[in-house]
Amino acid sequence: MVFILLGPPGSGKGTQGRLLSERLGIPYLSSGDVLRDLSKKDNEMASEIKSYMEKGKLIPDTLMKEVFALSIKTALLKANGVILDGYPRTIYQANDLENFLQELSFSSNIIRVLELVVNPDELIERLGSRYVCPVCQRIYHWKNQKCFLNLKCEFCGSSLEKRSDDKEETIKERLKEYELKTRDLHEYYYRKGFLVSISGGGSISEVAKAIELAVKNWEANCLE
Ligand code: AMP
Repeated sequence: MVFILLGPPGSGKGTQGRLLSERLGIPYLSSGDVLRDLSKKDNEMASEIKSYMEKGKLIPDTLMKEVFALSIKTALLKANGVILDGYPRTIYQANDLENFLQELSFSSNIIRVLELVVNPDELIERLGSRYVCPVCQRIYHWKNQKCFLNLKCEFCGSSLEKRSDDKEETIKERLKEYELKTRDLHEYYYRKGFLVSISGGGSISEVAKAIELAVKNWEANCLE
């Protein structure tokens, strides 16, 4: 299965993607993490990627295809499945994904989309209070973690950081980009019958339970 986590920035895709990956034993792949790694290199492509990310803009589709094709194909070949966080983000990328699957002789019917729905005020609040571990990429929020006593990751002990694009202006731009370029994917996958919408407004464990249920239903339908 190829699970796509769809939802605006701050909807919990990273947190839930990692939990689902542990539960199902298939790799988790975040396009944002891949791009952040690439942007640290000392070359022209890195500075191009960085300039889009810092403005809260999406990387152009052609460049995205160039930088992400290998990561996604490698993950697919390794485990026969993958959990995608942040990809695809446009209809163009959704078509690319189907082509990647076809090139590896997979059917696009193995795609399942989990859409996390959260109201805009909560998204802004979550992104503004978000910290990440720069080593294991785990995500933390003021509200629900003990780690804020010392700003250290509960898993690997590294010092937590704020993401450079979690600033008020950039957050607004990222949410605008979502409405403009990513929102259409809801309709695109709904029409194909691949999409389940889940309320992402509850606690981490409540949302994880709802995702688990959706996955079980899909698995049950596959066995029928
Ligand atoms: P994320 O970590 O998913 O919030 O992504 C951080 C930033 O990386 C986004 O604001 C975009 O600039 C860029 N990005 C991540 N995934 C994509 C994608 N699929 N297409 C274009 N840009 C992306």
